[in-house]
Amino acid sequence: MRKAFKYRLYPTKPQRRDLDKTLMLCRQLYNAALQERRDAYKKAGRTVGFYEQKRYLPEIRAELPEYKHIHSQVLQNVIERVDLAFKGFFRRVKAGQKAGYPRFKGKGRYDSFTFPQAGTTGVKLQDGGRRVLLYGIGSVKVKLHRPLEGKIKTATVKREGEHWYIIFITEVDPKPLPPSEEAIGIDLGTNPHFLVTSEGEMVEAPRHFQKAEEKLAKAQRELSRKKKGSNRRKKARLKVAKLHRKIANQRRDFHHKVARKLVNRYGTIVHEDLNILALSRSYVAKGIHDAGWAQFLAILAYKAEEAGRRVVGVDPKHTSQDCPVCGHREKRPLWVRVSTCPQCSTLLHRDVAAAQNILARAWTGPSGVAIPCPRSPGL
Ligand SMILES: [Zn+2]
Repeated sequence: MRKAFKYRLYPTKPQRRDLDKTLMLCRQLYNAALQERRDAYKKAGRTVGFYEQKRYLPEIRAELPEYKHIHSQVLQNVIERVDLAFKGFFRRVKAGQKAGYPRFKGKGRYDSFTFPQAGTTGVKLQDGGRRVLLYGIGSVKVKLHRPLEGKIKTATVKREGEHWYIIFITEVDPKPLPPSEEAIGIDLGTNPHFLVTSEGEMVEAPRHFQKAEEKLAKAQRELSRKKKGSNRRKKARLKVAKLHRKIANQRRDFHHKVARKLVNRYGTIVHEDLNILALSRSYVAKGIHDAGWAQFLAILAYKAEEAGRRVVGVDPKHTSQDCPVCGHREKRPLWVRVSTCPQCSTLLHRDVAAAQNILARAWTGPSGVAIPCPRSPGL
C-alpha cells in the first residue's frame, strides 16, 4: 500500500530562488506543451500525445540552458500533467459532462514539481534525514517530524505561501499487529471533545490547536476591516492564509496520533457512517462542517488496513437518544450531558452512551456486518 509523508523544507535564500525558478520554468513548459496541443487540435484536429511531446525534452534541455538544471524526469512529469489534464477533459466530454478545456497556469497557479522516481534518482536523504539533496537545487534542510517509512516512490516539492514542503509517496508493506479482541465505539465531534469512546475516554483537540484557531478568528476579523486593494489588506490576507495552513498541518498530525492510538489497541473500531450522518439532523447539531472528520476517518481506515484491524461505519440514527443498557429512547436537549434513564435508572453520559450504541450497532445494527461481540458494552 502507498503512504504519503509531508515534511517542511528549510531552503536558504539562494535555494529558495532556485526553487522559485524551477517552478517558473516548469510552469512555462506546462503552458508551452498545452499551447502545442491546443494548436494541433484547433488547426489540424489532431492530438499530440504524451510520448510525442516527451521526445522534444532533450532538445529543449539542449537549447535552453536554464532547463539543464532541472532533472529530466521532473520535466517529463510536467508533460504528464498536461497529458492528465487532457485525458480528464476528453473523459468528461465523452461522458457528456461539463468539461472546461485545459487551462494555462497563471503565476501562482503552479506550485509543485515532482520527481517520479525519487527512490532511484533526483532526490536523496542525507545526514540521517536532516537534509535532502534535490537535483538542481542542492542539499536542503528538512525536518522529518515523523519517521519516513517504506520505499520511496515519488517526491513532490511544493510551495505553500512562503513555506516549502516535500511530500514523499512510499510503498509500505502492511504490518499486521498482533490480533486484538477488543472493540471500541467512537462518537465524533461532541463539543468540546474531538471524540468520546464507549469506554468513557474523552479526547480533546490539543490546546495549541485551539489557540491557533482563536488567532485565526482574530486575523479574519482584522482582514475584514482592511480597505480593499490596500497593502495592509494584502498583508492581512497572507497572515490568514498562513494560519490556515498551520492549523491544517496541526490537525493532520493530531489525527495521525489519535488514529495510531486506537489502531494499536483495538481490533475493531466502530464509528458513525459519515455519509448517513450527513443526511441526518444531528449533522448540523454536531458541527460536522469541520472538514477534519473525513480526513480523520480516512487516516484511521488506512492505518487499520495496514495493521490488519477492522473499521466499521454504522448508521448513527438515534445513537444519542437510546439508553445502551435497556434501549429506552428519549429525546433530550443538546445541553443535557448527564441524565438518568427513567426506565432502568442507569446514569448516562450522553456522548459515552452514544459511543456505546455505535459500538453495539456493529453487530446488531442494520449495517449487516456480523462481528463477534467481544464483551457486553455495559457501563
Ligand atoms: Zn435504560
